[in-house]
Amino acid sequence: MSPELEELYQEVILDHSRRPRNFGDLPDATVRVHGDNPSCGDEIHLGVKFGASGELQDIKFSGHGCAISQASASLMTTKLKGKSRAEVMETFRAFHNLVTDEVAEAPKMLGDLRLMQGVRKFPQRVKCAMLAWRAVEQALQQTTGESTISTETDLGSS
Ligand code: ZN
Repeated sequence: MSPELEELYQEVILDHSRRPRNFGDLPDATVRVHGDNPSCGDEIHLGVKFGASGELQDIKFSGHGCAISQASASLMTTKLKGKSRAEVMETFRAFHNLVTDEVAEAPKMLGDLRLMQGVRKFPQRVKCAMLAWRAVEQALQQTTGESTISTETDLGSS
């Protein structure tokens, strides 16, 4: 990463971790997923409201954790709000590749999320970055109710 990009990365991550977007409880959530990343101590509570055609009409998160986990969740919610299920899955796969594949090009569709690319050098940080995404993946699978996931073991529905 160039020094300029490194600096931008720091700025965006810090901004989103200090002032997370779409932060709080979603009272009329269709699905709630509680995510846990024990290796770092990150926790997320994700609420998703699906629209009439299954799109992510609204999405909010709360919880606490390191700057990477909070920034990733915040960036994710701004990116996924209003998207169809297919678009959400496409973005999920693109982001997963971005943070795990050493040689992947960062696709333009990811926007600011491309700045998370730096975590691929740090396997422990990948779990932080993926926590919110694992939660949203679970939310799509269950479509209703409440469940718990973990980056260590996938506990599935509870
Ligand atoms: Zn973390």
